[in-house]
Amino acid sequence: MEIKITKTDSPKKLIAENELGFGQFFSDHMFIMDYEAGKGWGNARIVPFGNISLHPASTVLHYGSEIFEGLKAYRTESGEIRLFRPMENIRRMNDSADRMCLPKINEEDFLQALTTFVELEKDFVPYSFGTSLYLRPYMFGNDETLGVHTVKRATFMIIASPSGSYYKEGINPVKIMIESEDVRAVKGGTGAVKCGGNYAASNRAGEKASKVGYSQVLWLDGVHRKYIEEVGAMNVMFKINGEIVTPMLTGSILPGITRKSCIEVLKDMGYKVSERLLSVDELVEALENGKLEEAWGCGTAAVVSPIGRFCYEGKEYDVNGGKIGAVTQALYDTLTGIQWGKKDDKYGWIYKVC
Ligand SMILES: *Cc1c(COP(=O)(O)O)cnc(C)c1O
Repeated sequence: MEIKITKTDSPKKLIAENELGFGQFFSDHMFIMDYEAGKGWGNARIVPFGNISLHPASTVLHYGSEIFEGLKAYRTESGEIRLFRPMENIRRMNDSADRMCLPKINEEDFLQALTTFVELEKDFVPYSFGTSLYLRPYMFGNDETLGVHTVKRATFMIIASPSGSYYKEGINPVKIMIESEDVRAVKGGTGAVKCGGNYAASNRAGEKASKVGYSQVLWLDGVHRKYIEEVGAMNVMFKINGEIVTPMLTGSILPGITRKSCIEVLKDMGYKVSERLLSVDELVEALENGKLEEAWGCGTAAVVSPIGRFCYEGKEYDVNGGKIGAVTQALYDTLTGIQWGKKDDKYGWIYKVC
């Protein structure tokens, strides 16, 4: 695929690494390509970062036809810039496109877009351990009509945001509210798809939880309000009486790449990992009789995020004295070690860009 590159004539000053935060600053350029039914994808280009213009009837603004991905570019101590399992993101985005009737992208073209873009923006990949250049590929339907149908035009973009360490102040366990009113997804819906709409509908429960001091919501299944699904933008895992348990992918849970990687690492460490249904009653019982040893969320942004407290139907339960557990810590050390090049990549998960 040919990618036309137009460089900015006003390069940005780099932001100090301890002031980066998440998703607040953007690199100098962005990748764009356009789709038209009958013609396919074309006009692949990298242009200076800036506002885009949309027709007021553009499909995405009315019917929410949008999907996205999230991955990071890491810098090792020797200066290598690398991605973590990028083909997994590429395939998942095409699965999302399938569900949302958006056009798929050839895998090689997608990888070329990512690597060409990251190489051009390599100065924006920060240096310190834990910091990264967060990459956000996304696609939206862009028909210029209000008719409701499968789109004939779409836009694919990649933007990049230099991001600080998630754990600048150390790994502090988070407090999680188990939501029993709103639901995030149902089987047959879009729970397994990384689409903007899932997030729009989750905000209300998130707001409610944050008002009482809880940072994220743990979702229950939409039919029985009984089985644990996932946390906000993370999958969830538990250590109950020595067994590692994570909700099975029933169709309403996002198939996380960090989840998949954690399962592989845990099995390698010799743990029994069960992907199964886990009811909130079983969880509460384990919390009450001290059998819940550890709980953590896992996703690209935080890698793993220990859970120190749950709240369910007004009752609060502490996990592991509110401290990070040994398994959570080991997973964090293994995955970040591989990503930032401090540990041998024995799984072949690293893709070197430059
Ligand atoms: C992206 C995402 C995750 C985590 O997926 P990773 O591939 O590990 O980053 C989990 N849940 C939801 C809802 C997500 O959008």
